[in-house]
Amino acid sequence: MGIGEGLEKDGTSLSQIPTYVTAVPNGTEKGLYMAVDLGGTNFRVCSIQLNGDTTFNLTFSKVAIPKELMVAKTAQELFAFLAKQIELFLQTHHEEHFEKHVRRRLTQSASDGFKDEHVFRLGFTFSFPVQQIGINKGNLIRWTKGFDIPDAIGKDVCALLQDEIDKLHLPVKVAALVNDTVGTLMARSYSSPGKTGAVLGAIFGTGTNGAYVEKLANVKKPLSGEYDKSTGEMVINTEWGSFDNQLNVLPNTTWDIALDKQSVNPGIQMYEKRVSGMFLGEILRLVIIDLLKNKDVSFFRDDNSSSNDWKSTTNIAPASGIYAQWGLDTSIMSVAAADNTPELSTLRQSLESDLHVYSPAIDDAQAFKAISAAIVRRSARLSAVAIAAIVLQTGKLTDPESAGEPIDIGVDGSLVEHYPYFRDMIYEALRIVDGIGEEGAKRIRIGIAKDGSGVGAALIALVAAGME
Ligand code: ADP
Repeated sequence: MGIGEGLEKDGTSLSQIPTYVTAVPNGTEKGLYMAVDLGGTNFRVCSIQLNGDTTFNLTFSKVAIPKELMVAKTAQELFAFLAKQIELFLQTHHEEHFEKHVRRRLTQSASDGFKDEHVFRLGFTFSFPVQQIGINKGNLIRWTKGFDIPDAIGKDVCALLQDEIDKLHLPVKVAALVNDTVGTLMARSYSSPGKTGAVLGAIFGTGTNGAYVEKLANVKKPLSGEYDKSTGEMVINTEWGSFDNQLNVLPNTTWDIALDKQSVNPGIQMYEKRVSGMFLGEILRLVIIDLLKNKDVSFFRDDNSSSNDWKSTTNIAPASGIYAQWGLDTSIMSVAAADNTPELSTLRQSLESDLHVYSPAIDDAQAFKAISAAIVRRSARLSAVAIAAIVLQTGKLTDPESAGEPIDIGVDGSLVEHYPYFRDMIYEALRIVDGIGEEGAKRIRIGIAKDGSGVGAALIALVAAGME
């Protein structure tokens, strides 16, 4: 999968970004940490009490980012808003701590800093492309998802947040910059006790990506930031969504080609475009459009129509998402897979309510279900390729020291969480991969990492605090 190449140099199909996280938790970690998540429409603030017995308690608040701040003139405006939300969270959920250590300090005009033990360590999940240069340092490469504040480009986003936190005199230290896949890996490692922690954290949601534990000796490209060398390991963010952008090995159908051409980033994220939630519904939609245009096929056909226009001969309302790019949400594919009744009544209801297909016939619903299943099965099997590549890279299947131990993998995202049998289809494919087989697949344990972005970020803050 080009795993080795990405560890040697930049600019390859797999970016293999070093995260400077050098250990995964084992479930005994304890303490109260904070985490914030800026990834798109919302800003989440949470505090996490790690109980040290693989369990945790999470308190959180969520606020929509005002549209004008997404395109603010200065980064300071956005980050001041974020810091204000942290202040409000502390006031609401940690009032005692806030009163004791913030209010008093402000009113008594104390000039000294906070006592170290009163400072919350915070993990900052920031889902935009950053060049990470240390565990709590990363420069913004570019904005995505509707954000556009040119002033922030090239700046360290942790420092931007810390400056605004300090202006409010809050006892909070931005201890770690977190990618959501790393958070998933950490969350799974904490919650799933084993002799060794999890080896891989993977997201199958809007997009797909994975982060895994690599031996430091294998990381040949220069590491500029500071990190703890004693563990001999480092978590690597693969950015596997961009695997095989040159398309040498990935399947490429006419619908994949059409989807890519009409996307905002043609030729980029080619693996992701065949695997993740954002794209599966669109592939299905493009197949359906082709079938509707095909006069030789009877599919969602309005038998009373004598029109020549292909749209008028269907029993799909003009307002249906089937006619609009991205108009078919992947979640209906889960409905299709889950409905195993002879009449497919639930699916046919969803086709009516979600996609405005009038009185869909049973055999049309069956065809919809079959095509949908093929698209998701391909996605699951391709997901298995990425997982298999990482499992083989860890060497754990053949290492006598790990003999018989489970190989733990944490996953998150609506697709893997809600699509029925998605994990079973991954296992089905893993069993036939050379070097894994029946026995290897039995040792691979894939589990959902709940609240990955919150608890995972807290755990990275904990690791980072240990390095201070
Ligand atoms: P994100 O990855 O943005 O954090 P999610 O993990 O919720 O968020 O993933 C959202 C994606 O998952 C969307 O592309 C959506 O179409 C898809 N999705 C949402 N619900 C389901 C479902 N029940 N089954 C399959 N895909 C779903």
